[in-house]
Amino acid sequence: MPHRWIADRVLGFDSSGIRKVFDLAAKIRDPVNLSIGQPHFDVPAEAKQAAIDAISAGRNGYSVTQGIVELREKLEARVRADLPGQDRQLFVTSGTSGGLVLAVMSLVNPGDEVIVFDPYFVMYAPLVGICGGVAVAVDTYPDFRIDVDRVRECLTPRTKLILFNSPANPTGAVAGEDEVSALAVLALERDIALVSDEIYREFCYDAPFVSPARFNPRTLVIDGFSKTYGMTGWRLGFAHGPPEVIEQMLKLQQYTFVCAPHPLQWAGVAAMDLDMRGHIDDYRRKRDMIVAGLVDDYELTCPGGAYYAFPRAPWGTASEFVAAAIHERLLILPGNIFSSRDTHFRISYAAEDTVIERGIEILCALARRRK
Ligand code: PMP
Repeated sequence: MPHRWIADRVLGFDSSGIRKVFDLAAKIRDPVNLSIGQPHFDVPAEAKQAAIDAISAGRNGYSVTQGIVELREKLEARVRADLPGQDRQLFVTSGTSGGLVLAVMSLVNPGDEVIVFDPYFVMYAPLVGICGGVAVAVDTYPDFRIDVDRVRECLTPRTKLILFNSPANPTGAVAGEDEVSALAVLALERDIALVSDEIYREFCYDAPFVSPARFNPRTLVIDGFSKTYGMTGWRLGFAHGPPEVIEQMLKLQQYTFVCAPHPLQWAGVAAMDLDMRGHIDDYRRKRDMIVAGLVDDYELTCPGGAYYAFPRAPWGTASEFVAAAIHERLLILPGNIFSSRDTHFRISYAAEDTVIERGIEILCALARRRK
């Protein structure tokens, strides 16, 4: 029984799946950790220096709600170049998560249905639930492609929003131009809000990133600095989209997050001048290592982006398989954290090569154990 003080909205979901793995991880000595959802590289020195300079210069008070003009103008110029001629407004958020919270709170009424693609980023379903919405999962197994006909079948008069994420967490799938344009046009035709979580947009290995905003100017894009610049703890993101939606999100930001961390917004200005391609190339190579290492023993759709792979467990449920992996000191996450299915598991290859190599060895030995 929950304590009587606790509100219903936080009782509708739990985070025990992930916590169980991290609790186990804390007990393991020298784990082979392929469970981490953040880059393994550090913040570039230039961005660190810009943060230090901003703090030293006393830029430590609140910024304006929408973020410092220097950062906004730089981001707006990039967005204008990407999506020319669109009427978009932009503001700086407390991470991509902050942007997602404001977006869903601004768009979803109790009883509204929100399309999510299963498997989905852990935050999506709880966030929809907190707002009284109903997450409607569109299955994307086995190849994690977006089938727009499946989406169309799930639409009802209550469908308010589609939450889209490419490159995707946890699968690493990158939606192709055909899938993205079909989804974008469907949302436009049916007057359904489309939110595009583009936090992994720089992590595309085989084809350039395609935003649904290219085909649907009403798309609300949520993006951030966490992954591209290895600054997950700095809580810096941004959102851009239809001005009437952004205005409401800004109003909410004023009474919730207030502003993104001010000195770190200055670091964001400096970060935008940096070329991160070296890290992206490194992650492409790590992706290739994982795929080559597992191809003989696992059913695995080659992931085109982010830094995740989502193979099928070779035996048992994914939870059983992950428990066996953890017994061998390998930390990975069971698919049921992200999905209604408990058949696959997530590997994060944002790790040193030696860790990836040890992980592959353990996984291959485990797969062969029960064949
Ligand atoms: N969206 C997705 C798909 C993610 O994987 C993550 C981070 N794991 C986020 C959003 C949140 O990122 P941030 O650190 O910018 O809040």
